[in-house]
Amino acid sequence: MPLYDFQCLDCGERFEALVLKTAASCPSCQSARLEQLLSGFSVSSESTRDSNLSAAKRKHAKVHRDYSMDMHNAEKNHHH
Ligand SMILES: [Zn+2]
Repeated sequence: MPLYDFQCLDCGERFEALVLKTAASCPSCQSARLEQLLSGFSVSSESTRDSNLSAAKRKHAKVHRDYSMDMHNAEKNHHH
């Protein structure tokens, strides 16, 4: 029985489903608007991953900036 990866186009949930005669639906929001992901890679899932990645990078950049400020403050304290 073939298992396929799907991604929900409504909520972004990714899941595996058996492909039968009836269409699969999202386990999270029951949407039938699903994108079937090719095993290995998919162009459209790449773009989704890129947007997730850039969001994560932005979040990480903010944390890193805050951390750098803490480091500068720590250095000032060391020098007085
Ligand atoms: Zn969904």
